Amino acid sequence: MTTLQECRARDAQDPLRSLRDQFALPEGVIYLDGNSLGPLPKAAPERIARAVAEEWGQGLIRSWNTAGWYELPRRLGDRIAAFIGAGAGEVVATDSTSVNLFKVLSAALTIMAADAPSRRVVISERTNFPTDLYIAEALCRERGFALRLVEAEEIPSALNGDSAVLMLTHVNYRTGAMHDMAAVTAQAHAAGALTVWDLAHSAGAVLVDLTAANADFAIGCGYKYLNGGPGAPAFAWVHPRHADRFWQPLAGWWSHAAPFQFTSDYRPAAGIARYLCGTQPILSMTALECGLDTVAAAEPFGGMAALRHKSLALTDLFILLAEERCAGHGLALVTPREHHRRGSQVGFTRQEGAYAIMQALIARGVIGDFRAGPPDILRFGFTPLYIGYEDVWHAVEHLAAVLASEEWRRPEFSAAQAVT
Ligand SMILES: *Cc1c(COP(=O)(O)O)cnc(C)c1O
Repeated sequence: MTTLQECRARDAQDPLRSLRDQFALPEGVIYLDGNSLGPLPKAAPERIARAVAEEWGQGLIRSWNTAGWYELPRRLGDRIAAFIGAGAGEVVATDSTSVNLFKVLSAALTIMAADAPSRRVVISERTNFPTDLYIAEALCRERGFALRLVEAEEIPSALNGDSAVLMLTHVNYRTGAMHDMAAVTAQAHAAGALTVWDLAHSAGAVLVDLTAANADFAIGCGYKYLNGGPGAPAFAWVHPRHADRFWQPLAGWWSHAAPFQFTSDYRPAAGIARYLCGTQPILSMTALECGLDTVAAAEPFGGMAALRHKSLALTDLFILLAEERCAGHGLALVTPREHHRRGSQVGFTRQEGAYAIMQALIARGVIGDFRAGPPDILRFGFTPLYIGYEDVWHAVEHLAAVLASEEWRRPEFSAAQAVT
């Protein structure tokens, strides 16, 4: 039996403990939804206020040069690159995850249409995040490719001489199951296909090495584990061997080699800058930088490797305590137990009441979320920057109490909300 005292002792010895002070978390809240929206960095309100009052208010148009606005997509891209095993100059922070997926998948299809025109199939997982599937479906339809959806274990056998692109999300948004990026990329390449990886639940959460994995394209999200704020700019990475080969289709002026020459003909910028489109949301970029600072603050304590180590310890503890203290209440773990197959979240299914159980937990200050099935999932994200072992203890105590008392059956917990 693990005890509350043991959890407190682990917090006291946790070298990452001080990083929690970077966040303005509300009193009485245990926040287990940083995988959906990272919390507010304490530094952000003042930094954004300064960007508004000084850079916009005083600097006006001059701030594109004097405040470094023009460089932001590349400068923040370089900072993100350090978390995902990419090189400097290989990543841009820009647009949304969905839009970036459109750009990189389109580029991958263009490459394959030129190099191997008989390959007409894009493979993805049936349980991939819907926006990824919708973008792929629309793009395949437009470009004359077929989208083939398979289960994770069917991927090796689905790859064949018809395959053009394997498009996967590294960590599954529902189950938290993680692919072996290097192994799967090698399988795709052996079959002659390119890879597109969505790092929405990976960047800032697990160890990612795009270069070592020899991946082709990647995109990811700014507002989840990177704590960039609601609707933060996302990012795109393209392996240098592909970056200059073709235009991406959203070839706006920011992707031009010399936007301020205002020429009427298009000439793509070299490298990753060609994956930009139009003018960037500078205030949101400013907030994103505050989020990146919170992750970079782990550097002196071991960086992403230390974060990953603690994340696994937190999810191990949550699984152990939940199975111990909620036994007999119908929870079934959907997240892999093996460390190398697990992201930074834990999901449980329950036949009945999953939505209402999460609402009851939120009313108690334990904020996770619900993903409709089948099977319905209670989802708990663990961000080692601000979650401690005692938090895990209390979260499970609340879950056990909600289940044992059947408090979740109260009618107010079944009222449907627009965003779950
Ligand atoms: C969160 C998430 C997205 C979000 O896309 P937006 O364009 O930011 O709405 C996309 N893909 C995956 C896998 C995600 O988890």
